[in-house]
Amino acid sequence: MKIYKAAIIGLGASGLAVNKLIYNNSDDEVIAFENTNIESRNNFFGFWLTDWMKPYKKLIEKQWDKWEISNTDNNIYHTDSDHPYCIISFKNWKNFCLNTNNKLEIKDSKVINYQRIKNYYKIITENKNEYFAKKIYDSRFVKEKKQELKQHFFGINITTKDNIFDKNKITLMKFTKEKQLLHFIYVLPFSHNKALIESTVFSKKILDEKWYRQKIKNYLNENNINEFNEDSSEKGIIPMFFSEEKPSKDQNIFNIGIRGGACKPSTGYAFSFLIKQIQLLKSTKKNYVNVHKYLEKKMDKIFINYLKHNNEDGNSFIKLAKNLNGNEFQSFMMGQSSFLTKIKIIKSMPIIPFVKAMFK
Ligand SMILES: Cc1cc2nc3c(=O)[nH]c(=O)nc-3n(C[C@H](O)[C@H](O)[C@H](O)COP(=O)(O)OP(=O)(O)OC[C@H]3O[C@@H](n4cnc5c(N)ncnc54)[C@H](O)[C@@H]3O)c2cc1C
Repeated sequence: MKIYKAAIIGLGASGLAVNKLIYNNSDDEVIAFENTNIESRNNFFGFWLTDWMKPYKKLIEKQWDKWEISNTDNNIYHTDSDHPYCIISFKNWKNFCLNTNNKLEIKDSKVINYQRIKNYYKIITENKNEYFAKKIYDSRFVKEKKQELKQHFFGINITTKDNIFDKNKITLMKFTKEKQLLHFIYVLPFSHNKALIESTVFSKKILDEKWYRQKIKNYLNENNINEFNEDSSEKGIIPMFFSEEKPSKDQNIFNIGIRGGACKPSTGYAFSFLIKQIQLLKSTKKNYVNVHKYLEKKMDKIFINYLKHNNEDGNSFIKLAKNLNGNEFQSFMMGQSSFLTKIKIIKSMPIIPFVKAMFK
């Protein structure tokens, strides 16, 4: 009976990170389980450059110093050349993380369960195979919660006939007027004629692909983009609630990625945080690390409560963006804001609904 050094359940962003960041320089035998075809996954992960992401600078495919947050009446522009907005594609991250010195065996199977046997674990897959490992890194999806907010989105990568896009500036959020729904368009211009155009909603209910497509079409029409080729698409649902599993009492079971609490629920950013999580797990003997600071989590909770109980149309985001400069804004998004910035953030929010949200 073979006992692997570790088993990784799910070869998404965090499972891959475990292989690279923890086991890269060892001759350990690691087994990973993934029940989808990760070869066909290729979304972009965006983040503002923080110190802990600097080791992966070479993987960054494009970066922008400028971003825009707008609605029909306001356009706010931010700049921060020290902390640009960067993207790494899943493909690039996967290739980087699979290029290691350890021995990684990948099983194309769904894990159903695992259980402790002495000082190792038995992992059972859907096809009833059994495997054994000394440590478990689990990134399986968190449970659906119907009554909680989610960030859900659909985007298309397009090539236009003419040079239309300003390749030096991203549109982080362009809020549109909707009936009781928070919706914005996100645009990443890769070049003058190539861009990702994404439609994003914060709500409890997931919408039909047709809905997001219509919003993208509206945006393209408004910007006189009529001739283009759709190269690919991406979609996702990210929890806007604290979705992490409780840390296991078993020291050798590690919940990782979104399952382990990497997501900043108020924004849906998780990629750079899950990398920080794996970096921290490598340097501690514990099986759980706090990726987000206590105060940041508290503020996130209040903000989500506010979004849940009010018909926010994007105005609070606009006000927030107006009151902060680029550096302060990125520090807030990356959970690194100073006390003074936090005060500015709180002062930007509508007072009465926020006080109510504090007690919900
Ligand atoms: C399209 C998209 C775009 C995103 N963009 C950004 C972004 O720009 N910036 C940002 O910060 N975050 C972004 N996110 C959010 C977040 O960074 C990603 O969701 C990230 O992939 C989370 O990593 P993870 O390892 O927790 O989960 P995943 O990457 O989802 O990995 C979990 C893996 O486990 C597998 N799995 C599940 N159950 C089983 C099982 N029983 N057995 C075997 N395998 C299983 C799944 O198939 C999956 O591959 C995006 C998410 C999506 C979906």
